[in-house]
Amino acid sequence: MSFERYKYVVVGSGFFGAVIAERIASELGEPVLMLEKREHTGGNCHSVDHAETGIHYHRYGTHIFHTHNQEVWDYINKFTEFNGYHHQVLTTYQNKVYQMPINLETINSFYNLNLKPFEVSTFIEAEVHKSGINSPGNFEEKAISMVGRALYEAFIKGYTAKQWGCDPSQLPATLLQRLPFRTNYDENYFFDPWQGIPRQGYSAIFDKLLASPKIQVELNTDFFSVKHKLAQDACIVYTGPLDKLFDYSHGQLEWRSLSFEEEVMGVQDFQGTSVMNYAEESIPYTRIHEPRHLHPEKDYAKDQTLTIKEYSHSGNSEDPYYPVGGKKNKAILKKYKVEVSGQENLFVGGRLGDYKYYDMDQTIAAALRTYEQIRELA
Ligand code: FAD
Ligand code: UDP
Repeated sequence: MSFERYKYVVVGSGFFGAVIAERIASELGEPVLMLEKREHTGGNCHSVDHAETGIHYHRYGTHIFHTHNQEVWDYINKFTEFNGYHHQVLTTYQNKVYQMPINLETINSFYNLNLKPFEVSTFIEAEVHKSGINSPGNFEEKAISMVGRALYEAFIKGYTAKQWGCDPSQLPATLLQRLPFRTNYDENYFFDPWQGIPRQGYSAIFDKLLASPKIQVELNTDFFSVKHKLAQDACIVYTGPLDKLFDYSHGQLEWRSLSFEEEVMGVQDFQGTSVMNYAEESIPYTRIHEPRHLHPEKDYAKDQTLTIKEYSHSGNSEDPYYPVGGKKNKAILKKYKVEVSGQENLFVGGRLGDYKYYDMDQTIAAALRTYEQIRELA
């Protein structure tokens, strides 16, 4: 079917686009044209078997599915089984390994103490008091007011400076909502009741989401190159960077980008866990991924393992991973949102379209909400 005959066009095959395409095809029963500029579907959740080791890994960084949203959990379970993996992160500081998020084990090990859970608050309050911060405004002050200056400087300051490329005092305090702080030995990275890794990987989910013969997937196809071939009145769901959609007319939104360095090691287990953070700013990467640990149920080779170092650097809408946020970007975003609301057949969403630090479950929840709006107009 030629492009101009499609009433529904979805730009981008990450979770936002793929869920909407699946809903339109299976519930509305309408054909969908899916345009994807990369050579694969799945957006940043794309996963693949590593050619040399056979280890299944996530090409754009380790992705753990976690949610407390029943609707999202029920929906995603129609397309995959999860393996029951629970995420635990460790961090290396001055050549010693600690638990992350900061919990009782981290605190006792760092201070060489044996505090009990009921003693931690008093201890941390005294540390916070020493810092003299009473009404925290920015990320740095908020972090110090939560854990005290010493723990902040060891485990948060350097990592955050590397990740965001700026002094943490310039970042919003809200970012800390992602990082739990615990006064017991719970080493779970997430609070959510449901989590895991898809048994067959993320790409298998996207194959199922997009399996309907009503969905035509065009890979290696940039929306901006084929826009002129689409029907004038087509309903467009755009999940790419919002500023690019309007040719940067209100300015560029800032992004952080990542690069990855893969290395095959001649040992079965390199670091004993799937993600090891590196807290010090002097170590150029933020974390090392070892994807074999994501699939304890798989029988991988015993003489080699895959490791992936992650580096963070400034980016732009050509390679967007993390929306930087902050006042300046919020002001630009607002102007683009006004543009979107003025267009009847245009729906914009996802991590790049909404310019929001969405996790996968939040992306799926947002896609299901947007689909409801599309259905009402159908
Ligand atoms: P994307 O996955 O970015 O998909 C957008 C798609 O649109 C891309 O495929 C892109 O190529 C395509 N596109 C863009 N412009 C065009 C165009 N002009 N024409 C055609 N196609 C276009 N979430 C979790 O829940 N758990 C995790 O552990 C987790 N880890 C993460 C780790 C990293 C390093 C990153 C960056 C994100 C992580 N996330 C995690 C978040 C997760 O990746 C996102 O929530 C999810 O991928 C967002 O899906 P999306 O569809 O909005 O965007
Ligand atoms: N963070 C930190 N030290 C760590 C891990 C995280 O200071 O060891 C901070 C950092 O600012 C980071 C934020 O917490 O950007 C959120 O961390 P998360 O693991 O959620 O980031 P993501 O996995 O999305 O990159």
